[in-house]
Amino acid sequence: MSATAIDINPAYQPEGFEGQGFFATSLDKVVGLARANSLWPLPFATSCCGIEFMATMGAHYDLSRFGSERLSFSPRQADLLMVMGTISKKMGPILRQVYEQMAEPKWVLCMGACASSGGIFDTYSVLQGIDKIIPVDVYIPGCAPRPEQVLDGILQIQKLAESEERRRREMPEYKALLAQYGIE
Ligand code: SF4
Repeated sequence: MSATAIDINPAYQPEGFEGQGFFATSLDKVVGLARANSLWPLPFATSCCGIEFMATMGAHYDLSRFGSERLSFSPRQADLLMVMGTISKKMGPILRQVYEQMAEPKWVLCMGACASSGGIFDTYSVLQGIDKIIPVDVYIPGCAPRPEQVLDGILQIQKLAESEERRRREMPEYKALLAQYGIE
Protein backbone atom coordinates (compact mmCIF):
# COMPACT_ATOMS: atom_id res chain seq x y z
CA MET A 1 0.00 0.00 0.00
CA SER A 2 1.33 3.44 -0.80
CA ALA A 3 1.91 5.98 1.96
CA THR A 4 -1.06 8.03 0.74
CA ALA A 5 -3.52 5.16 0.34
CA ILE A 6 -6.41 5.15 2.82
CA ASP A 7 -7.68 1.84 4.08
CA ILE A 8 -11.37 2.45 4.63
CA ASN A 9 -13.27 -0.30 6.41
CA PRO A 10 -16.54 1.26 7.58
CA ALA A 11 -18.41 -1.93 8.54
CA TYR A 12 -17.92 -5.64 8.19
CA GLN A 13 -19.47 -7.43 5.25
CA PRO A 14 -22.14 -9.96 6.28
CA GLU A 15 -22.01 -13.56 5.08
CA GLY A 16 -23.42 -14.00 1.61
CA PHE A 17 -22.68 -14.85 -1.98
CA GLU A 18 -20.76 -12.65 -4.31
CA GLY A 19 -19.62 -12.67 -7.88
CA GLN A 20 -18.63 -10.12 -10.41
CA GLY A 21 -20.90 -7.12 -9.92
CA PHE A 22 -23.22 -8.58 -7.29
CA PHE A 23 -23.47 -9.49 -3.64
CA ALA A 24 -26.44 -11.29 -2.10
CA THR A 25 -27.27 -11.93 1.54
CA SER A 26 -30.36 -12.29 3.71
CA LEU A 27 -32.60 -9.35 4.62
CA ASP A 28 -32.05 -10.03 8.34
CA LYS A 29 -28.31 -9.57 7.97
CA VAL A 30 -28.67 -6.31 6.03
CA VAL A 31 -31.17 -4.91 8.51
CA GLY A 32 -28.95 -5.98 11.44
CA LEU A 33 -25.92 -4.36 9.84
CA ALA A 34 -27.80 -1.10 9.27
CA ARG A 35 -29.27 -1.02 12.76
CA ALA A 36 -25.98 -1.79 14.48
CA ASN A 37 -24.06 0.92 12.67
CA SER A 38 -26.60 3.71 12.94
CA LEU A 39 -27.63 3.72 16.60
CA TRP A 40 -29.14 7.01 17.72
CA PRO A 41 -28.52 7.40 21.46
CA LEU A 42 -30.73 9.32 23.83
CA PRO A 43 -28.45 10.37 26.71
CA PHE A 44 -30.43 10.36 29.96
CA ALA A 45 -27.64 11.83 32.05
CA THR A 46 -28.27 13.06 35.56
CA SER A 47 -24.82 13.33 37.14
CA CYS A 48 -21.09 12.62 36.89
CA CYS A 49 -21.31 9.59 34.57
CA GLY A 50 -22.71 12.02 32.02
CA ILE A 51 -19.40 13.86 32.02
CA GLU A 52 -17.60 10.68 30.98
CA PHE A 53 -20.14 10.29 28.21
CA MET A 54 -19.36 13.82 27.03
CA ALA A 55 -15.71 12.79 26.85
CA THR A 56 -16.78 9.77 24.78
CA MET A 57 -18.45 12.12 22.31
CA GLY A 58 -15.35 14.33 22.08
CA ALA A 59 -12.69 14.22 19.40
CA HIS A 60 -10.34 11.89 21.29
CA TYR A 61 -12.74 8.95 21.73
CA ASP A 62 -15.10 10.01 18.95
CA LEU A 63 -18.26 7.94 19.24
CA SER A 64 -19.14 8.98 15.70
CA ARG A 65 -16.70 6.31 14.47
CA PHE A 66 -19.41 3.81 15.44
CA GLY A 67 -22.23 5.61 13.65
CA SER A 68 -23.64 7.10 16.85
CA GLU A 69 -22.71 10.75 16.61
CA ARG A 70 -26.30 11.81 16.18
CA LEU A 71 -27.64 12.21 19.71
CA SER A 72 -31.36 12.53 20.12
CA PHE A 73 -33.14 14.35 22.89
CA SER A 74 -36.50 13.17 21.64
CA PRO A 75 -37.43 9.57 22.49
CA ARG A 76 -39.30 9.23 19.23
CA GLN A 77 -36.12 9.71 17.21
CA ALA A 78 -33.84 7.49 19.31
CA ASP A 79 -33.25 3.75 19.50
CA LEU A 80 -30.63 3.53 22.25
CA LEU A 81 -31.52 4.81 25.72
CA MET A 82 -28.32 5.51 27.66
CA VAL A 83 -28.98 5.99 31.36
CA MET A 84 -26.08 7.54 33.24
CA GLY A 85 -26.07 8.83 36.76
CA THR A 86 -28.06 8.66 39.94
CA ILE A 87 -31.76 8.11 39.28
CA SER A 88 -33.99 9.21 42.12
CA LYS A 89 -37.25 7.42 42.75
CA LYS A 90 -39.04 10.64 41.84
CA MET A 91 -37.41 10.54 38.42
CA GLY A 92 -38.27 6.87 37.82
CA PRO A 93 -41.68 7.48 36.19
CA ILE A 94 -40.13 10.04 33.82
CA LEU A 95 -37.42 7.59 32.77
CA ARG A 96 -40.04 4.95 32.20
CA GLN A 97 -42.14 7.34 30.13
CA VAL A 98 -39.13 8.16 27.96
CA TYR A 99 -38.52 4.42 27.45
CA GLU A 100 -42.15 3.80 26.54
CA GLN A 101 -42.15 6.65 24.04
CA MET A 102 -39.26 5.14 22.09
CA ALA A 103 -40.30 3.11 19.07
CA GLU A 104 -39.10 -0.43 18.45
CA PRO A 105 -36.43 -1.56 17.93
CA LYS A 106 -34.84 -0.05 21.01
CA TRP A 107 -32.07 -0.95 23.42
CA VAL A 108 -31.06 0.22 26.88
CA LEU A 109 -27.48 0.80 28.02
CA CYS A 110 -27.06 1.31 31.75
CA MET A 111 -23.87 3.17 32.59
CA GLY A 112 -22.20 3.19 35.98
CA ALA A 113 -22.86 1.93 39.47
CA CYS A 114 -25.59 4.46 40.29
CA ALA A 115 -27.83 3.66 37.33
CA SER A 116 -27.13 -0.07 37.69
CA SER A 117 -27.64 -0.48 41.42
CA GLY A 118 -27.94 2.88 43.16
CA GLY A 119 -24.18 2.84 43.71
CA ILE A 120 -23.07 4.36 46.97
CA PHE A 121 -26.47 6.01 47.42
CA ASP A 122 -28.26 3.32 49.38
CA THR A 123 -30.88 5.79 50.56
CA TYR A 124 -34.66 6.10 50.67
CA SER A 125 -34.73 8.51 47.73
CA VAL A 126 -32.53 6.73 45.15
CA LEU A 127 -33.72 4.00 42.80
CA GLN A 128 -31.55 0.94 43.43
CA GLY A 129 -31.09 0.14 39.75
CA ILE A 130 -33.08 1.19 36.70
CA ASP A 131 -33.89 -2.45 35.95
CA LYS A 132 -36.52 -2.11 38.65
CA ILE A 133 -38.60 -0.06 36.22
CA ILE A 134 -37.34 -0.81 32.66
CA PRO A 135 -35.50 -3.75 31.05
CA VAL A 136 -31.75 -3.26 30.48
CA ASP A 137 -29.72 -4.81 27.65
CA VAL A 138 -26.15 -3.98 28.68
CA TYR A 139 -24.61 -2.76 31.95
CA ILE A 140 -21.36 -0.81 32.14
CA PRO A 141 -19.72 -1.24 35.56
CA GLY A 142 -17.64 1.38 37.35
CA CYS A 143 -17.80 4.71 39.13
CA ALA A 144 -17.30 6.44 36.85
CA PRO A 145 -16.72 4.15 33.86
CA ARG A 146 -14.00 5.29 31.48
CA PRO A 147 -14.90 6.32 27.93
CA GLU A 148 -13.28 3.08 26.71
CA GLN A 149 -15.87 1.19 28.75
CA VAL A 150 -18.65 3.24 27.19
CA LEU A 151 -17.33 2.34 23.75
CA ASP A 152 -17.22 -1.31 24.79
CA GLY A 153 -20.85 -1.04 25.94
CA ILE A 154 -21.83 0.42 22.57
CA LEU A 155 -20.04 -2.46 20.84
CA GLN A 156 -22.03 -4.94 22.94
CA ILE A 157 -25.26 -3.19 21.92
CA GLN A 158 -24.13 -3.32 18.30
CA LYS A 159 -23.63 -7.08 18.60
CA LEU A 160 -27.16 -7.42 19.94
CA ALA A 161 -28.61 -5.16 17.26
CA GLU A 162 -27.05 -7.06 14.39
CA SER A 163 -27.83 -10.54 15.66
CA GLU A 164 -31.28 -10.37 17.20
CA GLU A 165 -34.58 -11.08 15.53
CA ARG A 166 -35.73 -8.39 13.15
CA ARG A 167 -39.10 -8.34 14.87
CA ARG A 168 -37.99 -8.80 18.45
CA ARG A 169 -41.14 -7.21 19.81
CA GLU A 170 -43.21 -10.11 18.46
CA MET A 171 -41.15 -12.80 20.20
CA PRO A 172 -42.91 -14.46 23.17
CA GLU A 173 -39.79 -14.05 25.36
CA TYR A 174 -39.73 -10.31 24.73
CA LYS A 175 -43.44 -9.96 25.38
CA ALA A 176 -43.01 -11.89 28.63
CA LEU A 177 -40.12 -9.61 29.66
CA LEU A 178 -42.14 -6.46 29.02
CA ALA A 179 -45.13 -7.98 30.80
CA GLN A 180 -42.96 -8.37 33.91
CA TYR A 181 -42.56 -4.61 33.86
CA GLY A 182 -46.23 -4.01 33.13
CA ILE A 183 -45.37 -2.58 29.70
CA GLU A 184 -47.58 -3.51 26.76
S1 SF4 B 1 -21.54 5.79 39.24
FE1 SF4 B 1 -20.07 7.21 40.19
S2 SF4 B 1 -19.53 8.61 38.53
FE2 SF4 B 1 -21.43 7.57 37.90
S3 SF4 B 1 -23.09 8.91 38.59
FE3 SF4 B 1 -22.69 7.44 40.23
S4 SF4 B 1 -21.27 8.49 41.61
FE4 SF4 B 1 -21.22 9.58 39.64
